[in-house]
Amino acid sequence: MKDIDRILDKLRIKEKDSESRKIYAEVFDEKTLKTLYKLASKGLIQALGGVVSTGKEANVFYADGKIDGELKPVAVKIYRIETSEFFKMDEYLFGDKRFDLRKISRKDLIFIWTEKEFRNLERSFSAGVNVPEPYEYFRNVLIMEFLGEDEKPYPTLFDLRKDLPDIVDLEELFEKIKENLRKLYQDAELVHADLSEYNIILKGEDPYFIDMGQSVLIDHPLASSYLERDLKNIIKFFSKFRIKEDFESFLSYVRGD
Ligand code: ATP
Ligand code: MN
Repeated sequence: MKDIDRILDKLRIKEKDSESRKIYAEVFDEKTLKTLYKLASKGLIQALGGVVSTGKEANVFYADGKIDGELKPVAVKIYRIETSEFFKMDEYLFGDKRFDLRKISRKDLIFIWTEKEFRNLERSFSAGVNVPEPYEYFRNVLIMEFLGEDEKPYPTLFDLRKDLPDIVDLEELFEKIKENLRKLYQDAELVHADLSEYNIILKGEDPYFIDMGQSVLIDHPLASSYLERDLKNIIKFFSKFRIKEDFESFLSYVRGD
């Protein structure tokens, strides 16, 4: 218990009251606390802020970060080590030539997954796709650009579903999503593989893709079926606003054939 208190002190938890500290102590297992301690010691995390999202596989937090000597808001995505769902990850890792699964124990799979999301974001960011800039990863913790203001994340397309027509020109938004998908496929050579209104954040009028742990290289054996699913999710979402798109022409636009 003393140990945990010391770590929480090091993380300079912004919510000072003991109730919040209790929550942090509960959501982080001991290994994760040690990982966060290390990131705080390196100065990457200056102070850990509030919870942005709690999910089945990961929790996302706001933090004041320090990247290359510069203070900036960061998102800290922490994959649960004790997750019951991560057997699903096999499908996305198997067939990815970058990772040799035969040598990896089940426990380390979650660390590989974190690295995979980092590398997918890095590839996408370098190719000019709108994604949060990835800064660092260590074990099951990923630090990236915080897409939001005043410690609050920008909304997803799902959050905005009702108000979207009042906020943006939907035709233009669809066009921007298509362009980002084409860059993702042709320049980053990746398929997102979990794209939908839940994993697209709107920053001003620009769509940003998030949540890329499951993204695969285009030569993955199941890449084309993931791509089909992604495109169909987007078509379905926009059809609710009476914007029609033909799957085949969308597909050839994205693939450039
Ligand atoms: P779940 O287990 O719930 O499916 P997840 O794996 O889907 O979690 P993400 O989609 O990456 O996790 O993130 C969950 C939420 O956290 C997002 O909907 C978004 O609100 C917020 N979020 C994620 N990344 C960022 C970021 N870089 N900046 C701001 N908010 C973010
Ligand atoms: Mn998500």
